Amino acid sequence: MRLILLGPPGAGKGTQAQRLTDSYNIVQLSTGDMLRAAVAAGTKVGLRAKTVMEAGDLVSDDIVVDIISDRIDQEDCKNGFILDGFPRTLAQAEALEQMLTEKSLRLDAVIEMQVDDALLTDRIIGRYTCAGCGAGYHDKNLRPKAAGVCDKCGGTDFNRRADDNAETVTSRLKAYHEQTAPLLPFYRQRGCLLAVDGMAEINEVTRQMKAVLEAG
Ligand code: AMP
Repeated sequence: MRLILLGPPGAGKGTQAQRLTDSYNIVQLSTGDMLRAAVAAGTKVGLRAKTVMEAGDLVSDDIVVDIISDRIDQEDCKNGFILDGFPRTLAQAEALEQMLTEKSLRLDAVIEMQVDDALLTDRIIGRYTCAGCGAGYHDKNLRPKAAGVCDKCGGTDFNRRADDNAETVTSRLKAYHEQTAPLLPFYRQRGCLLAVDGMAEINEVTRQMKAVLEAG
């Protein structure tokens, strides 16, 4: 299965993608994670992306398209993948369409996660992840069972993203509405757009995703 999760920053794309990878035995391809890894490793791409990401703007299309094209060719993508945070512009969507055609691969569905802007800032600013296993938590909505200890791996170190702050969130939401939201009519026109209520409780969102995939 090959899917795209589409939604604003803070919609829960990463959380839901992790759950779907387990259910459908496919991999999660997050351009945000790949770019953060490149920044941390100090690669040429990382150096180009760092200041753009810190400002909450979008990295250039050619960089992310190249990253995804190379990644899709890897062995672990054979059974399918979920694109999380890509495509984010019409140019990226068009490049993806061409790339999939060239690789003789078909996109099964695009799932839109619908969330009101008013909720997003709170969700983004409160979130953090376990440094050991990457499990996601939130100051208000999803705390570990024992304070300061990861439920999944028992780790006690946690990370917050450098761009999860009030100033950057405004730019990231603006980028979403101006550059990414036009992908909704693009995929609707192609007959592959599905939608779920991204404001529902986490398990309910997963349930809705599986239901629309099975029905669609
Ligand atoms: P994310 O983890 O998806 O919220 O992405 C974090 C940041 O990485 C974004 O604010 C952008 O600066 C950059 N980024 C991630 N994916 C893309 C993409 N597909 N196109 C352009 N920039 C991206």
